[in-house]
Amino acid sequence: MSGIAQGMWTTLKHFFTSLSKPVTVQYPEERLPLSVGFRGLPRLVYDLKSGDARCVACAICANACPVGVIHIDAHRGPDGRKLLDRFDIEAGGCVYCGLCVEACPFDALTMTPGFELAAYNRVDLLWPKERLLVPGTAENDANMHWIMSGVEKQGKTPPSAWPHAAQEAGLLPQDWAASTDSAEAAGETAAEEEREEEVAATAS
Ligand code: SF4
Ligand code: SF4
Repeated sequence: MSGIAQGMWTTLKHFFTSLSKPVTVQYPEERLPLSVGFRGLPRLVYDLKSGDARCVACAICANACPVGVIHIDAHRGPDGRKLLDRFDIEAGGCVYCGLCVEACPFDALTMTPGFELAAYNRVDLLWPKERLLVPGTAENDANMHWIMSGVEKQGKTPPSAWPHAAQEAGLLPQDWAASTDSAEAAGETAAEEEREEEVAATAS
C-alpha cells in the first residue's frame, strides 16, 4: 500500500512541477539549441581564402559510406590533379552515421545542424555539390573535428583540444566543462535525495 502511495506521490510531484516549469517546446516557433557535433546531412567544405572545395575526389568517403549514397565523378586537370565533376549525396538514404566525415583525410566533409530535409519527392533529396558546399569556418571545422572524436589522424587537432576549439567557435559556452560538471553533480545529488526519500518512505 505504501508503495502505491509513494508512486502516486512521485507522479503528482512531477505533474505539478511540469505545470510551473513546462518542458514542452513549441516547435517550430521555439527551438532547442543543437549540441556541438550534431549530425545533420554531410556537407562539402570549401576553403574560405581560395573559395575552392577542399575535396580532392579521392572517393575514400564514398567507399566508407555503408549505404552507398555518395556518388563521385572526376577527371584529371592539366596539372594532373583530380577535379570534381560530380559529388552527390542521396539525403533520403543517408543514415547520418558520420563515417564519411571520419574517413575524409582532407577535412573536406562536415555535418551541419540542418535537419529539416523533408521534400515532396525523392529527386529533391538528391543533393549535388553546388547545394552541399558550406564555408570552412571555425564553426564548421569545430563541428567536423567533434564528429571525428576518437579518430586518430596525422596532424589533426588532438581530442583534448576539441572542446576548446568549439568554445572559440562559439559552439560551447566558455564555462562549458565547469557547468557540465556542476549540472551532473546537481543531477546526481537530486537523484540521491530522491532515492533516500523513497527508501525512508518505504521503511516507514
Ligand atoms: S574523402 Fe574527402 S577529399 Fe576524398 S572524395 Fe570524399 S570529401 Fe573529397
Ligand atoms: S553520414 Fe553515413 S550514410 Fe550518410 S553519407 Fe556519410 S557515410 Fe554515408
